[in-house]
Amino acid sequence: MATKKYLFTPGPTPVPPQVLAALAEPVVHHRSPDFKPIYERCLARLREVCRTERDVLLFAASGTGAFEAAVANLVSPGDPHLVVSAGNFGERWAAMTAAYGADVDHLRYAWGETPDADDVRARLGARAAKAVWVVHSETSTGVVADIQAIAAAAREAGALVVVDAVSSLGAVPCETDRWGLDVVVSGSQKALMTPPGLGLCAVSDAALGATGTSPRFYFDWERTRKAQAKLDAAFTPPVSLVAGLDVALGLLLEEGLEAAFDRHVRLGRAARAGVKAMGLELFSPDEDRSAVVTAVRVPEGVDSGAVVQALRDRFGMTIAGGQGELQGKIFRLGHIGWFDVFDITTMLAAVEIVLADLRADIERGAAVTAALEAYEHSSRVA
Ligand code: PLP
Repeated sequence: MATKKYLFTPGPTPVPPQVLAALAEPVVHHRSPDFKPIYERCLARLREVCRTERDVLLFAASGTGAFEAAVANLVSPGDPHLVVSAGNFGERWAAMTAAYGADVDHLRYAWGETPDADDVRARLGARAAKAVWVVHSETSTGVVADIQAIAAAAREAGALVVVDAVSSLGAVPCETDRWGLDVVVSGSQKALMTPPGLGLCAVSDAALGATGTSPRFYFDWERTRKAQAKLDAAFTPPVSLVAGLDVALGLLLEEGLEAAFDRHVRLGRAARAGVKAMGLELFSPDEDRSAVVTAVRVPEGVDSGAVVQALRDRFGMTIAGGQGELQGKIFRLGHIGWFDVFDITTMLAAVEIVLADLRADIERGAAVTAALEAYEHSSRVA
C-alpha cells in the first residue's frame, strides 16, 4: 500500500478536497469572463476574512513576498521604524526593513516571550516611528500576541501598524478595521487552506497615503490596487491558485469565522492537554490564544530532529522541528486550517510511539484521552 502522508506542520497545511478539485480545473484566461467572477468573489471573500472594508491586494508570492510589498511601499531610506520581534519571523522583518534602509529600532524579545503593548508604548515614547511592525502569530514559537493592544499603543503614538498575520488570519481573531490595523499581511498556505503561492496585504487608506520612495514595481501597491479595482490584474495572476483560494475562503466563511476561531482554540487545548498528559513540557504558552501551533520541549537527551525524522520515516508524518536557536530543542505541532480533533490525536499517538522508541521517559496511553476530553469539554469562546 502506498504510504499515507500526514501534513501536520504549521504551513503548508492540508488542503481540503473541494479546493484540490478547483485547482485541477482547466486553466482559464485571466482577462476573460471565465476568471473575472472568480477573482471578484475571491477578493470580496478576502475582505470578509480580513474583516475590512478596504482593499486586500493579492500577489503571486509567498507570505514573505507580501511582507516585502509592505516594506517596499512604506519604508524610505532613513525613516525611523519600530520592529517588534520574539522569534524567527520578527527577526526576518527587522532584517528586511533594515535592508530597505530603515532606521530600525528593534524591540527584541527572547524567542518564546510574548510582546507587550506597554513596552511598545514606552519605545514609541522614547523614539517616534513611522510604523510598528509586529508578528501576530509567531509560528516559530507558538506565541500569539495581543495585536489589538499593540495596535492601540501604535495609534496613540501616531504610528502605522503593520501586522504579519501569515499564520493567524482565519485561525485566530484579526479585526483589521476594528483594531485599526493599517496593513495585514498573510499567505495562502496556512489557515486559508490553499497551497503556497498567494500573498496578500490588506491596506488602510492611511497606509496607502504614506507610501515612500523605495524602488518597487511588481509589488507597488498603487499599481495592484488600480488594476484590482477594474478586476484586471496588473500581471498574470496564478489563476488556478486564485480559484482554489476562492473555494477555500467559501468553506471558511461557510463554517463561520467565529466557529473557526473556536475550533482552533479547542484544537490548541486538545494538543496541550495531550502533550502534558504524556509528561512533556510545553514551550508555547499554555493559554487559549496559543491556538495555532503547539511547541513542545523534547525530554532530556532527545534531539527534536530525531523525533521529526522518525515520524517521517515510520509514519509518513511531517511535523516541524525548532527553527534557529530552538533547533533540536523543540518540535512544533501545527493545527492551522483544515484540522479536526482526530488530526490531533493521530499526531499525539505517533509522537508517543516515537518518543518511547527514543527511550524518552513519557507516560504511555494518556495523551489521546486527555486530548479528546479537552476538546469535548471546552466551552465556546465568547
Ligand atoms: N510569517 C509567519 C508568521 C510565518 O509563519 C511564515 C511562514 O512560515 C512567514 C511569515 C513567511 O511566509 P512564507 O514562507 O509564505 O514566505
